[in-house]
Amino acid sequence: MTVTELVSYEDALASYDPVMGLEVHVELGTKTKMFCGCSTELGAEPNSQTCPTCLGLPGSLPVVNAVGVESAVKIGLALHCEIAEWCRFARKNYFYPDMPKNFQTSQYDEPIAFNGYLDVQLEDGEVFRVEIERAHMEEDTGKSTHVGGATGRIHGASHSLLDYNRAGIPLIEIVTKPIEGAGERAPEVAKAYVAELRELIKALGVSEARMEQGQMRCDVNLSLRPNGTKEFGTRSETKNVNSLRSVERAARFEIQRHAAVLSSGGTIVQETRHFHEEDGSTTAGRIKDNAEDYRYFPEPDLVPVAPAREWVEELRKELPELPRVRRNRLREEWGVSEHDMQSILNAGAVDLIAATIDAGADAASARKWWMGELARRANEAGTDLAALEITPEQVARVCALVAEGSLNDKLARQVIEGVLAGEGDPDAVVAGRGLAVVSDEGALGTAVDEAIAANAGIADKIRSGKVAAAGALVGAVMKATRGQADAARVRELILEKLGVEG
Ligand code: ADP
Ligand code: MG
Ligand code: ZN
Repeated sequence: MTVTELVSYEDALASYDPVMGLEVHVELGTKTKMFCGCSTELGAEPNSQTCPTCLGLPGSLPVVNAVGVESAVKIGLALHCEIAEWCRFARKNYFYPDMPKNFQTSQYDEPIAFNGYLDVQLEDGEVFRVEIERAHMEEDTGKSTHVGGATGRIHGASHSLLDYNRAGIPLIEIVTKPIEGAGERAPEVAKAYVAELRELIKALGVSEARMEQGQMRCDVNLSLRPNGTKEFGTRSETKNVNSLRSVERAARFEIQRHAAVLSSGGTIVQETRHFHEEDGSTTAGRIKDNAEDYRYFPEPDLVPVAPAREWVEELRKELPELPRVRRNRLREEWGVSEHDMQSILNAGAVDLIAATIDAGADAASARKWWMGELARRANEAGTDLAALEITPEQVARVCALVAEGSLNDKLARQVIEGVLAGEGDPDAVVAGRGLAVVSDEGALGTAVDEAIAANAGIADKIRSGKVAAAGALVGAVMKATRGQADAARVRELILEKLGVEG
């Protein structure tokens, strides 16, 4: 294999204009599979969730999952698509060991939803419209595990194991029209589109859309054409990219690789490519020309799907506020910048902060704890914010204790540590660890008197007007109270006792 010397990203864009197409597969969160009653629960014993239908045994007959169709219509509506009045499933014929029927039940020329768009917001706030070609229903395949080799790939393996539990789980495939005009921002648009789609899918409640678990995966099609020309170049299709960051990196790498091939007089082969997480590169998969013959034909065992117009309108009325619209509303309510809202989104903290505010916290405090201390701890533990063992209600309680002066920030961090360690609610941690600000004025006054007596020189400086020196005395009192005093109140007391104006 020859390794192509990449062209720098800037040089690539100086000569070429990227065109992208994104195909996203979403595994629906239905209880049962798309065409049979088998469970979709993850983590079960291999092949324990199968039946004659999803194993493709002769004589078995599929039945369409109504929740699957409803989810598809909701996704179509949220993407501003037209919903087919009548559509059919189709058989996509090909052999693969993890596909026991020898065809995938999919949709071909009659998708349930088509001609839509999704507006995505870029980091600087600019809105870019991505047009949607279609959203169609299909089913997942089983899963192969290649055993005995060093890499887990089929090459070098001694045998393969097949688990059909995933075979037949409902998928919605969402395909964009060619995305033109993004220029150097093409990789950013790709990432923002997948991020927005993921938020949308979650808001609709049709899937948890966890990319790291393969519930949502993206194929990145990309081609270059010389700047100023119209005709599309030949595309490559990088398959199954499964994180937002990887979507961006894959697009960027392919722009650089295509530019290298084209500028040295070579031609791009229409092929699938594999993305490599370690270095962000892609390598060739299988050659794929447009004439690929799947011998699609209408599925004779399933009745056509004809969503009644009244039902479609009902579903349209029930659509939740679109994530981008909601984010903009929250951004204004919280008084944060576009940039900060983007960080909150990237951290997966929008819903957590919103719930903390609903539980009584003010916006600034809710944001401060989730994006500060809690983000730090999630990062340390290598998990998502949402996976931390603390609820928005508990964070709101910590905020309330700080607001009423029972805790200062340092103590609040200890309370959070206790909640995360399973010591109970914030109040239980405060009681259990004896963490409360010393607010008893008598005790505080004594501590202040002692600090003044022990630091007579500093006290004289303050008396003579050097108010800045008070910090040293505040520090002494905080030390004496093991951090459990309200520093602002301590400072007031010191100045009062020394007869100086703050
Ligand atoms: P396939 O079945 O080969 O994956 P699809 O039509 O399902 O084909 O998806 C192809 C995707 O690539 C679509 O999003 C389409 O808009 C996009 N696309 C088509 N031609 C090009 C091209 N020359 N360059 C970039 N993207 C393209
Ligand atoms: Mg494809
Ligand atoms: Zn089944």
